[in-house]
Amino acid sequence: MKFIDEAVIKVTAGDGGKGCVSFRREKFVPRGGPDGGDGGNGGDVILKATTQLTTLLDFKYKKHFSAGRGVHGKGAQKEGREGANVLLVVPAGTIIYDHETGEKLVDLSEEGAVFVAARGGRGGKGNAYFKSSTRQAPRFAQPGGEGEVKTLRLELKLLADVGLIGYPNAGKSTLLSVISKARPKIADYPFTTLTPSLGMVAHKSYPPYTVADIPGLIEGAHEGKGLGIDFLKHVDRTKILLHLVSVDPLEELPPLERFRRIQAELKGFSSALATRPQVVVLTKIDLLEGEKALKDLSRPFEKIGCELFAISAVNRVGLEKLLDHISKILPPLRGGS
Ligand code: GDP
Ligand code: MG
Repeated sequence: MKFIDEAVIKVTAGDGGKGCVSFRREKFVPRGGPDGGDGGNGGDVILKATTQLTTLLDFKYKKHFSAGRGVHGKGAQKEGREGANVLLVVPAGTIIYDHETGEKLVDLSEEGAVFVAARGGRGGKGNAYFKSSTRQAPRFAQPGGEGEVKTLRLELKLLADVGLIGYPNAGKSTLLSVISKARPKIADYPFTTLTPSLGMVAHKSYPPYTVADIPGLIEGAHEGKGLGIDFLKHVDRTKILLHLVSVDPLEELPPLERFRRIQAELKGFSSALATRPQVVVLTKIDLLEGEKALKDLSRPFEKIGCELFAISAVNRVGLEKLLDHISKILPPLRGGS
């Protein structure tokens, strides 16, 4: 079970600076020796893993990264300055491939792991370097080496932080489509009519997180019907569940009853999942007439101690409050990241 976020980027290391050809010229020193300095090395492009990031969103727009070139050497044995390195921070768990050959280069799974993705060219030696007893006045110097250029594919396996559960038609897909900013490619899933989808939510300046829409969680799923056990296993790793309950008056069963059935379904699958922190979200409140109707529907949920929100995805009502809440409770559950 894989959800994959990926990005293809081009990294160009800096070229090395040229070595310098120069001879010392001073008053009263008629034939000064060679004093051409070396060129500086080109900068590297370096990748570094951090658990502070959870998506490759940063690489969706800017895709080309170049390190600085080395400065050419100068006379009086002056070395050229080194080119500046470029440090790219990627989420821990990112696997780096050479995009052209498909070769896996490195798995940056550990916090702080570092990989030099493109090495800068070496600075060329100046003519002072080539001086020897038999060659007193070399009139040449080395050119700088070229910086490496590579096209990399970054791949990150995503685990959903937040799972959306609820009856069919509760409004799960709609909510995901209005709150998520980007959609990573989703691996083929064998249940063609039940394609789970994953979105990344970047809300205000909070760390982005991933939300999985879990379609058709209905009675019997834990017996292998419908959804498939693999998918439920994936959901098992979510940190929070948003339990969506439609307030559409045309629904056959009352909201609380639909809520209870989904709860029973979860418990049947795993007691761990059933005790995951859950936020109950009443959806489609635009279909209700007046404040009182919503209050009446909310009361039975409040009575059983649910943390309750009310939204209309279509009219964009209540979304900010809900996202603020998730953004605040998620980081500690994720373990600080
Ligand atoms: P899912 O089965 O839980 O994924 O539900 P969907 O997101 O597919 O929504 C089911 C139906 O409810 C669709 O026809 C949506 O257009 C509709 N719907 C979703 N959100 C709202 C809402 O906020 N208000 C109203 N009136 N309809 C909604
Ligand atoms: Mg759906």
